[in-house]
Amino acid sequence: MSNPKDLCPCCSGKSYESCCKPFHDGYLPENAVQLMRSRYSAYFFNIPNYIIATTHPASSRYSENKFSWKRNISQFARNSTFHKLEILDFKERGDLATVTFTAFISQEGKDVTYTERSYFEKKNKCWLYRGGQITEGHAPNFVTTGQLRLLPLAYYGEPILRRKADPVIEITDDLRTLVEEMIETMDACDGIGLAAPQVHHSIRLFVMQTQSNTEERGNDSGGIEVIINPILSEPSVETWKAPEGCLSIPTFRFLIERHKEITVEYTTLDGSQIKKRVSGWQARVFQHETDHIDGILFIDRLDPEEQSQLLPHLQSLERRIHDGRAL
Ligand SMILES: [Zn+2]
Ligand SMILES: [Zn+2]
Repeated sequence: MSNPKDLCPCCSGKSYESCCKPFHDGYLPENAVQLMRSRYSAYFFNIPNYIIATTHPASSRYSENKFSWKRNISQFARNSTFHKLEILDFKERGDLATVTFTAFISQEGKDVTYTERSYFEKKNKCWLYRGGQITEGHAPNFVTTGQLRLLPLAYYGEPILRRKADPVIEITDDLRTLVEEMIETMDACDGIGLAAPQVHHSIRLFVMQTQSNTEERGNDSGGIEVIINPILSEPSVETWKAPEGCLSIPTFRFLIERHKEITVEYTTLDGSQIKKRVSGWQARVFQHETDHIDGILFIDRLDPEEQSQLLPHLQSLERRIHDGRAL
C-alpha cells in the first residue's frame, strides 16, 4: 500500500487519507461522485471487498459467487495500471444519479482507456453502482445535457408489479414526459422493453425497442415504439422457447414459452390506432410487456416445479435489493 500522505489516485488533488480512505474504511459516500472516485481508488489499491460492497444487487456485474467475483476484480486490478480519473459530468435526482467519467488505464503497456456513463442508485442511505454505458477512449461527447431523467425501477417483491394497471385515458404532456424518462431508463439499464408499472406508474403503457425478429439485441437498430392500452388477440398455436430476462428481476434469465405470432392493437403516443400481426422477438416483447400491465411476471410462465425451485433464489434477490449493501 502507499504512503497515506500520497495524493489520492482518484485525482481529487487531496491526500488519500482525507479523500477516499474513509470510504474504504466504511464511511458512506454522500453522493455518487464520491462513490465513483472511491471505487476507482479501490481498484487502484486492489480492494475487491469495497467494489463488491458498493455494487447494486441489480447490476449485471453482481455475482452470488463472491469468491470468484473477488478473484476477477483482483486480477483486473493487478493487471492494470491506473493513470488518471477524469469526471466529466454528474447529475443527481432523488435517489438516482449518473456520473460520466474517463478512466485512463493501461494493461501490459496497451491503452485501455474508456469513458463510461455510470448509473447509481441509493438504497438504505448507501449509494450503489448500478451499471453503465461504455465507450472506448476519452469521449467527452458522452456527456448528456439537461437534467437527469432516469426513473427508479420497481423490483421483484414490490406490490405495484402485481397490480392490474389502469387504462390510459388521455395523452397529456405529463404522459409524454414519463415516456421520455422511461426510454432513457430502458436505455441506461440496457433493456429491450419497459412497462410503466416497472417505474412505479400503474398504467397500461410500455416502451420497446424495435429490431429484427431474429436478434434479441441489435445496438443500432435504434427504433423505439410507445405502446398505449395494448390488446393482444389471435395467438398462434405455434409457440417457441427463448431466454428472457426482466429489469425488475435482474440477473435472472429463463427459457420462456411464448406464442410465435400474435395480433396487437394499441394507441401510439400521437394518438393513432394501430392493428397489426407481429411475430418472433417482437411478439415475445409484446407478450412480456403486456403481462407486466396485467400484473404478471415472466417467471409466472415457468412450470410449477421450476417455480418452486426458483422461489428461494427470488427471496434472496428480494432481500439483497432491499438491504442495499452486499457486504
Ligand atoms: Zn480519492
Ligand atoms: Zn419485464
